[in-house]
Amino acid sequence: MAPIVVIGTGLAGFNLVKEFRKHDAETPVVMLTSDDGRNYSKPMLSNGLARNKTADELVMASPEQTAAALNVTVRPGVSVTAIDRAAKQVVLGDERLDYSQLVLACGADVFRPQLEGDGQDAVFSINDLTDYARFRSALEGRKSVLVMGGGLIGCEFANDMAQAGIQVHVVEPMGRCLPLLVPEAASQAVSAGLGALGVSFHFGPFVQRVDRHGEGVRATLSDGATVDVDLVLSAVGLRPRIALAAEAGLAVDRGVQVDRQLRTSDPQIFALGDCAEVDGHVLPYLLPLMASARALAKTLAGTPTDVSYGVMPITIKTPACPVVCVVAPRGTAGHWQVEADGHHVKALFRDEQGQLHGYALTGDACSEKMALNKDMPALF
Ligand code: FAD
Repeated sequence: MAPIVVIGTGLAGFNLVKEFRKHDAETPVVMLTSDDGRNYSKPMLSNGLARNKTADELVMASPEQTAAALNVTVRPGVSVTAIDRAAKQVVLGDERLDYSQLVLACGADVFRPQLEGDGQDAVFSINDLTDYARFRSALEGRKSVLVMGGGLIGCEFANDMAQAGIQVHVVEPMGRCLPLLVPEAASQAVSAGLGALGVSFHFGPFVQRVDRHGEGVRATLSDGATVDVDLVLSAVGLRPRIALAAEAGLAVDRGVQVDRQLRTSDPQIFALGDCAEVDGHVLPYLLPLMASARALAKTLAGTPTDVSYGVMPITIKTPACPVVCVVAPRGTAGHWQVEADGHHVKALFRDEQGQLHGYALTGDACSEKMALNKDMPALF
């Protein structure tokens, strides 16, 4: 019998297979990955510097250890180039591999903005262990970094590097930290917390060009200001990897579209994690991924199961000003009610009937998370 084939050994692929083995110890499973297949926790990449962790120290298991622990075949260093749905095969260059059921757990790509200038070699992004190792090695002996983007990942890296003694500049065109996640008062608490660690902010402009300048680079912003640093870290967003699915004729929009059973428009092909758009929601975080892995494991083992998202808080790893938030579903009408006491902000997003749909908590107010979760409607 053809195996279940999983494309991707990130947290989505790995947790899916771990859950699946709780229901089915025998069915052959093959995990394919274009990276080196080492198992690591991606959230650790944005607080590894202050903890002085090398890429190797973040590895939890080698591909061989994963294969033995889960009774699966892991094939690192192979790129799936196409899906032949009619033949039920994945194409790996010259090779073809049969599948009984196929799972896309292929993650998201970093968005790379167009930049002018000859300093592109100094512009990095970090979306996997290899990126992390490359950046760590470039940072050796360097003192300053410009972070493009003040969203979750940009703020986490800014906090981590500042804590490790790096001079950090954050450039955020939307005018404040975490603009898509929290209201103004919470953004201000975060920028104040990071500012106290020495982080400088450039709110409003975007980075237009990066040119070589002495031993480092000079970034020119859209308002004409210049910032001289050793390196640039781009953290301007992720795009679900949908090309493979789209080329195979599967329904895609912002992500690979799946229903609540994580099933794509082809009933034998599933998707979860950062590549997936689940019932219209693209939520590239751990909690949705874990819920999806548990449900899909049951479906693949023969018991079709809907994923239930419940309330999905996002914890932002900025120890200079801890943040936890729930973003209201797109299109939800309502308004923010804000109570602020210095760095401690409690912001509640309610509709006209007073129903809570989202919140943003910073500092000591984070302790109210559990109580607020009880007042929130489940996403689905
Ligand atoms: P990935 O980990 O990207 O895995 C994708 C896999 O697919 C890889 O193995 C890749 O090699 C493989 N692949 C892709 N295309 C192909 C192909 N064609 N052929 C073969 N293999 C292929 N979330 C939180 O909830 N809390 C946090 O604190 C948090 N911190 C984060 C910090 C950082 C720096 C980042 C970048 C993300 C963070 N996230 C956090 C988000 C969270 O880490 C991701 O949602 C999650 O790791 C995504 O896992 P994934 O398996 O879907 O994707």
